[in-house]
Amino acid sequence: MKLSDLNNEQLKAVKATKGPVLVFAGAGSGKTRVLTYKVWYLIKNKIYLPKEILALTFTNKAASEMRERINKSIKCDGVTVGTFHSIGARILRKYIKNLDKRYSSGFTIYDGSDQKLILKEIIEELDLNNYKEFNPNLLQAKIDSFKNASMSVKDVQSEANGFENKKIAKIYDLYLEKLIQNNAVDFNDLILLPIQLFKKNKSSLKAYQNLWKYILVDEFQDTNSPQFKLISFLAGGHKNITVVGDDDQSIYGWRGANIDNILTNFKDTFPKAVEIKLEKNYRSTQRILDGAWSVVSNNANRAEKKLVATKGQGERISLIPTGNDKEEALAVADSIKKDIKINKSKFQDFAILYRTNAQSRIIEQIFMREGLPYSIVGGTKFYDRKEIKNVLAYLILICNLNDNVALKRIINFPVRGIGEKTIKLLNDLANKKKISLFESLQFAKELKLRNKQCDSISNFYDSINKFHDLLEKLDCKELFRVILEEFNIEYYYKNNPVEQDRYNNIQELKSSIDYFAETSGGGLREFLQEIALYTDLDDWNSKQNSITLMTVHAAKGLEFPTVFITGLEQGLFPLMRVDDSSDQFEEERRLFYVALTRAMEKAYLLNAYYRRRFGSQSTSSFIQSDFLNEINKDSLKVKKYKSVYTKRIVNSANGKTVKMARTVTEFDDFAVGDMVQHNLFGVGTIIVLNGAGENQKVGIEFKDGLKKKLIVKYANLKRID
Ligand code: ATP
Ligand code: MG
Repeated sequence: MKLSDLNNEQLKAVKATKGPVLVFAGAGSGKTRVLTYKVWYLIKNKIYLPKEILALTFTNKAASEMRERINKSIKCDGVTVGTFHSIGARILRKYIKNLDKRYSSGFTIYDGSDQKLILKEIIEELDLNNYKEFNPNLLQAKIDSFKNASMSVKDVQSEANGFENKKIAKIYDLYLEKLIQNNAVDFNDLILLPIQLFKKNKSSLKAYQNLWKYILVDEFQDTNSPQFKLISFLAGGHKNITVVGDDDQSIYGWRGANIDNILTNFKDTFPKAVEIKLEKNYRSTQRILDGAWSVVSNNANRAEKKLVATKGQGERISLIPTGNDKEEALAVADSIKKDIKINKSKFQDFAILYRTNAQSRIIEQIFMREGLPYSIVGGTKFYDRKEIKNVLAYLILICNLNDNVALKRIINFPVRGIGEKTIKLLNDLANKKKISLFESLQFAKELKLRNKQCDSISNFYDSINKFHDLLEKLDCKELFRVILEEFNIEYYYKNNPVEQDRYNNIQELKSSIDYFAETSGGGLREFLQEIALYTDLDDWNSKQNSITLMTVHAAKGLEFPTVFITGLEQGLFPLMRVDDSSDQFEEERRLFYVALTRAMEKAYLLNAYYRRRFGSQSTSSFIQSDFLNEINKDSLKVKKYKSVYTKRIVNSANGKTVKMARTVTEFDDFAVGDMVQHNLFGVGTIIVLNGAGENQKVGIEFKDGLKKKLIVKYANLKRID
């Protein structure tokens, strides 16, 4: 890293090391680069020590990339780079007791499925099983929205009228209570509880204001109100903070992101903020930028800004309308193959973006059949698999004996004869004695149970306790191995032929613990925290040579030489929601802007006339996406694509399908300005066009001024890109 890698404006942002700084700029203008270089600059010039710097990124992956980049240039041990959630967890590990004495630093972080288990318990306890409106999914969404709006139980109670709302307020109350009992926090709590802590306990706030003397925030446009509150607290004393963002890329409104944080709130909270604009784009060609710009500039709620490509015009964006979703996937596959053949590009140069995860299925099918290697970001997460959840529950319980969700997952796994009824009896016993469910296991003898059951409960209790005591003594690799053995978990999967996949997954978990222990030196608690904060993106190895398939949301902040945006149909992208408001439509436009600005050299826009949607067997025809009506036509060239399948060839002798061949025909319409090669006349530029497809007539001016009118069908022209 060196300062000459930066332009003047970027340099200004890096060198502004005192007071608040807002870098407000379009996609690919080097905002993330500015942050990375700024951390390096602060350390190199000894303006701050590494441990005094806090950098907040949007994903764990972005955090580790930033750390890696800085580390290549300068020793930066001690610098804190993480997501809001990981920083919140770190604060709580240290201070959660000051917030509520019933909590301890070994708390578990609950994910959605854990939350739902708690809610299920509550629904049963309140005898609300028979009401559709009290289902765990709906309640989880409700509670998340209360929390995002910083509403306490009292707030909810005071607004509650009618049976349903009153019950919901009660459920919310019990939910919060149960989390405390289980010594657990949910995802929202990782931001909300530190805020409550800082309000209540000024000394903890002071400690962090003194620790982190410089704060940097990437993707600031996607912070929500609690996140902004948290940084306002942390930077509230010294006000040494740099935030970077682009209002046009605010795409998490549906999760509470508040675009006003970047448009107005930052300057209101930090009135002395210096605002720096970056107006050069280093990522994309001008045509790609123009295309993206022409769509997003239709939004009303945005700030004006400039952005000029440093790379020059580049190729036009290709628009490929196709007949159906399969053909769309084939068009992508063929374009990639062609590009690899002609330009020697690598698989990793390509990304396929879509609006909804469901769209990946057909693309995967086609890629598999065509032998194209791909990695898909998202889908079922490794750590969400049942067998992994079960094994992890052992580790979680050993770290946090109060965690009833973990306990209930494994008390009868592998089977040890402790059924629902017994658990209920134990639960009642725990309530009577005012102890945790786990502690009640030692009094199982007081219940009328069979001897065998009593023995198995007491063995389980003793083993878990034993490992709890060993937690600090054994390293996590070893601990994990003895746990698997003691509870017969590996044995259970290994000897069950239908469970082979699961057995293999457990082996994979073993390697990931080993890797964690070797690379980070952390213990079991740290490992569990890392996985609790794991996201889809963390599974993705961007260095692997394969094509990337991901949603537009996941692609934020990334870049690829060639990007395909699929499913540009009205209702799919923009996605139609039940209550379509103009705010939501504007967010869809920003999503399109994000998608297109991921492309460095080439971009393809695709749609399909028929598509199977929402798991239905029937297909529905589409209307082309509004974005294609809005996009600047000078940036586009239309490619016609047709893929013709020959029928399955059936071997009459045995009736088996032996071959399925396909032929591809691609008509590339020429555009004015295209450079072409003619066998006789040489290289020329198209100056006029008439018609379309094979019968298109073109007027070409060749090198020596020779003008010719030719028919595409006979002229055998080759485009020179
Ligand atoms: P986004 O809005 O998508 O998050 P960004 O503004 O954070 O984009 P970066 O990812 O930092 O932009 O930079 C985009 C690309 O431009 C990267 O490949 C980066 O290395 C390159 N880049 C940034 N600044 C410069 C510069 N001054 N000189 C050369 N390349 C640069
Ligand atoms: Mg960025």
